[in-house]
Amino acid sequence: MGTVVISIDAALGWGFHDYPAAERPTERIARSRWGWKRLAETLKAFELPATWAVVGHLFEHDCAGAHVGHPTPSGWFAHERGDDPMDARYRFAPDLIGDLIESDIAHDIGSQTYSHVDLSADYATETLARSECDRTVEAAEAAGLSMASFVFPRNQMGHREVLAESGFRCYRGTEPETTVDRGYSTSLRRLVQATVVRDPPPLVDPTVDEYGLVNVPPSLYLFGFGDRTRRALAATVGDPVLRQARLGVDAAADGDGVCHLWLRSSDLTTAADVDRFRAICAHIDSVRTDTDLRVETMQSVADSVVAEEFTAA
Ligand SMILES: [Zn+2]
Repeated sequence: MGTVVISIDAALGWGFHDYPAAERPTERIARSRWGWKRLAETLKAFELPATWAVVGHLFEHDCAGAHVGHPTPSGWFAHERGDDPMDARYRFAPDLIGDLIESDIAHDIGSQTYSHVDLSADYATETLARSECDRTVEAAEAAGLSMASFVFPRNQMGHREVLAESGFRCYRGTEPETTVDRGYSTSLRRLVQATVVRDPPPLVDPTVDEYGLVNVPPSLYLFGFGDRTRRALAATVGDPVLRQARLGVDAAADGDGVCHLWLRSSDLTTAADVDRFRAICAHIDSVRTDTDLRVETMQSVADSVVAEEFTAA
């Protein structure tokens, strides 16, 4: 019996705050709340739960941009200060998170650090990692949440021992076959697989790591092919990502692994992006109706893995 998991990196402006101001994708940031809402609506329409890896600062209602005593590098919160700070709508989102908490769908609300710190970077000391986790857990608890799931900013793993000590139980590791996808890159090999060979993306097998955390690796990034390639292929063979996602969902329904689809809330900037996500959700819903396919979250998958290990032991 196979499983589908959807995880969403929900960062709004925090996904880009450490870019030089001139290089920030302002259009993408400006659409990020719109994309978040379309994702939530679509999941609700198909009654699909997902893991939302939220940047902890988004729980806040306001701040002075000082964050005194927080051990980030100098200037880390500079985008919150000065004459032209980043719009508050992209730094705070208790409204959007509140809608997820109150939703009828059993979403798993997890973390992506407090201020989108790359935990593999040289500046990411153990003290900073701990502080980022502590602040996130506090902000979540103030909203009545206990977090279990963790996604590493930019998919760069680090300080897993701190995650375990902070009470997290699972994380999204790296893609099998070392195709580490850092963002909006294209993967020609994957594209050829999708369009010519028609191989499904890898099903993954969640495992417990040396810190007692469950690693739920990703199978497929839903916005991993560049726009230009996507458009060129769409004219001939259809949306290559949609095709890959369907193959993965079908493989999970036929087999025993986890098809873990992921995306960023800021990936949805156009109606075509929403159409793709809706088509994938429709396919999951349809296959779930006809087979034993389960739709789970990172947290529920992790709970099952730990329970199985306990029983086996
Ligand atoms: Zn702040």
